[in-house]
Amino acid sequence: MADYQKLEAVIGLEIHVQLNTLSKMFCACPNNPEESKPNTNICPTCLGHPGTLPTVNASAVEKMVRVGLALNCHIPKESEFARKSYFYPDLPKGYQITQADKPLCQKGFLVLSNQRKIRIRRIHLEEDTGRLVHDHQQNCSLIDFNRAGVPLMELVTEPDFKNGQEVTEFAQELQMILRYLGVSNADMEKGEMRIEANVSVQPKADPLGSGTKTELKNINSFHAVRMAIDSEIERQRVMISQGEKVTQETRGWNGQQTVLQRKKEEEQEYRYFSEPDLLPIRWTEREIMEIAQSLPELPAAKRSRLSREYQIEQQDIEVLVRDPALASYFEKAASELLSWKKDEKISSEKTSQLMKLLANYLISDLKGLIGSGSIKDLKITPENFAELIILIFQGKIPSRLAKGLLKDMFETGGDPSQIMADQGLAKIDDEKMLQPVVKRIIDNNPQACQDYRQGKTAALQFLIGQLMGETKGAVEPDHARRLIEDQLK
Ligand SMILES: [Zn+2]
Repeated sequence: MADYQKLEAVIGLEIHVQLNTLSKMFCACPNNPEESKPNTNICPTCLGHPGTLPTVNASAVEKMVRVGLALNCHIPKESEFARKSYFYPDLPKGYQITQADKPLCQKGFLVLSNQRKIRIRRIHLEEDTGRLVHDHQQNCSLIDFNRAGVPLMELVTEPDFKNGQEVTEFAQELQMILRYLGVSNADMEKGEMRIEANVSVQPKADPLGSGTKTELKNINSFHAVRMAIDSEIERQRVMISQGEKVTQETRGWNGQQTVLQRKKEEEQEYRYFSEPDLLPIRWTEREIMEIAQSLPELPAAKRSRLSREYQIEQQDIEVLVRDPALASYFEKAASELLSWKKDEKISSEKTSQLMKLLANYLISDLKGLIGSGSIKDLKITPENFAELIILIFQGKIPSRLAKGLLKDMFETGGDPSQIMADQGLAKIDDEKMLQPVVKRIIDNNPQACQDYRQGKTAALQFLIGQLMGETKGAVEPDHARRLIEDQLK
């Protein structure tokens, strides 16, 4: 019997992702996951009619190589497609075109935030199957072939994960990289990204993998993947420490615990062989280099650059990295601030305050106003947003009023100084901007002015109240009193 404390988990992943190409993998049918009418995007090729020939979708192949390069993979000079024979009702040909021992990408890795390196064994390209729809009213099953032949990438990791947290971090980072590369939205809820985890538990000192693995499948959110893995590790640790044997099986997740879906009988024999209807894919070094040079800045690089250049909080950096449009807006506004600080000769310590102020107003306030809308529709230019931050930084607008000003800018797209002038929202000690407002109040209230001159102090209070109201509280009461008294002299 094994000691519960000395048992540790070994986890490996297989992740399938639908690529967002315009057409399917081996025919010209549209690849449209939004198509709701069954069997609309189909042709003899993706229905597997005898005598049809597949043609490789070059865009899918290039997207895959982009993913491979982003994940530090080696791209072999030659790779090829293979036939995997098995019978399933939603697989019309009776075999799937996939890749076997010559995949497009090999031996990559991704580093987690705890600095552990997760090795990627391979990433290959294949075609998706159709979809079975079970009609319980009619008591029958129907097949929709819209998805049959959609390009699917399969990524296989080495068994390098230790817990559910590491797995979800890896999967979320992968999703972000796929989005940065523009190859897939990889939405788990929509089935665009499907994670299968092989989980086994064994004594820590045992490097050979003596544990029996179970396969967790059909889990459709990051949160559920994490819970399912941790719950499965616990189940196996308890079983093994009590002397029970874990059996090889496929398990699902019911929201509370992993549940048996089916027992694994002997390994299936897929009889892989090279696809005779397709030529091998060959690359020159130059072609690979050109694709590598076309990659955008990836999340990890963006994280370290933002931290180096702007010295803002780690959690703010994470918000920006997850939202590239917001990050680009931040950087435009930050560059305005940096050139302003250069002219004003602001110290570097103060610069970091300025950047934190920008990150704060952008991430808490502006993002809150945008809500579920898109930053692309935002009326405030980065220049005007930077100007607002400078006004706040200089104390020209009290922070209690800044949020209201930001809201006005959000609605009208106006320039902050202009809005302040229009609304009499002058800075506390800017006499020049306040004088016309004071004059207007005095002109509009002749009776109160006369009362004041006759010694009625309540009249002065009234005029101060008017000025405070006009400036929405931007003027301190003492200052307002002095301004009015001076004007009435
Ligand atoms: Zn087709």
